[in-house]
Amino acid sequence: MHKIIIAIDGYSSCGKSTLAKQLAKTLEYRFIDSGAMYRAVTLYLINHQIDIYNLDAVAESLKNIKIDFKINPENHLQETYLNDENVEMALRINSRIASVVSDVSAISEVRRFLVKQQQFLGNEKGIVMDGRDIGTVVFPHAELKIFVTADPQIRAQRRFDELKEKGQTTTIEEVLANLQKRDHIDTTRADSPLVKAEDAIVLDTSNMNREQQFQFAYDLARKKLGVTSE
Ligand code: C5P
Repeated sequence: MHKIIIAIDGYSSCGKSTLAKQLAKTLEYRFIDSGAMYRAVTLYLINHQIDIYNLDAVAESLKNIKIDFKINPENHLQETYLNDENVEMALRINSRIASVVSDVSAISEVRRFLVKQQQFLGNEKGIVMDGRDIGTVVFPHAELKIFVTADPQIRAQRRFDELKEKGQTTTIEEVLANLQKRDHIDTTRADSPLVKAEDAIVLDTSNMNREQQFQFAYDLARKKLGVTSE
């Protein structure tokens, strides 16, 4: 069967990665969480105490950043490596990353650096990538584009539950404030702002469980692939 590119974009904590992962697994496609790449760059800058507002210093440091994805043989889940170190957990729970990642992502050099790698990963199609600019900039010709959205309160509650499960102490208010700040920066930045691609299909996950979200996306993918029966 021919392979397609599936681009999943949308606001923070809408369930994009979970959906993309499940879709990729079912279709036996590669899954790429582009947000993890922006988070990994941010982690590098934090660890090396590079001033994220010093654009020359940020551009210079990109040379030293290598990001890979590897499958963990124990749980078969894909994990992100920064310069050969497994940073999967740190990327998700480090609150310093969450607070500055959108500022780092607004830097054009950072975007160019990562978009090139993302496009390379999609060379052979058969990929599901989630992010903010996948359907607009990274793969404007993706065969299927889904734009995910959800009520901010519901997103904050989901993200709060997820952080709590990972042992983090925070409050719903803090989580909501971070989501809203990131959404604002992501939608208003000059370079590749978060915007729905004209040909993207909107998926509002506010009142949908994971299974319903998956079914919605899977049906669309099957249609694109020309699959009509089970
Ligand atoms: O998806 P996630 O929340 O992990 O992404 C973290 C941040 O990375 C986003 O808030 C956004 O600023 C940035 N990002 C981006 N473009 C992408 C993916 C993520 O600017 N394609």
